Amino acid sequence: MKDFFVKTARKYQVIDITPRVQEIVEQDGSTDGLCCVFVPHATAAVTINENADPNIGEDLHNALAKLIPEGVWRHDRIDGNAAAHIKAAILGPSETVPVKDRRLTLGTWQSLMLVEFDGPRQRRVIVQIR
Ligand code: ZN
Repeated sequence: MKDFFVKTARKYQVIDITPRVQEIVEQDGSTDGLCCVFVPHATAAVTINENADPNIGEDLHNALAKLIPEGVWRHDRIDGNAAAHIKAAILGPSETVPVKDRRLTLGTWQSLMLVEFDGPRQRRVIVQIR
């Protein structure tokens, strides 16, 4: 198991972590297998989508913001970030990508994205290849 840390700079942010994950895949001993990318956080997520147009990250946040309003949930009485928890739960904390010849088999328009919903924070990304 390997990990690395990402410092997010804003409350909502989408960060392409593909190069860092690919680096770990290349250093790993196995040529083929599955690469699991996981964040051990309740208000951040991992997803796979397009990075060529950064508007997609903004669109994703705007779409989720329309679905999930802020400040109306029970957990908001605790620490005011229920919407971030719900959005993170919908996207999920992990993605799994097949590895072939020490390369992530992502499509041309696919990137692995860390999605921050309650930043700025330091986020840990765990990578397991089997
Ligand atoms: Zn909370």
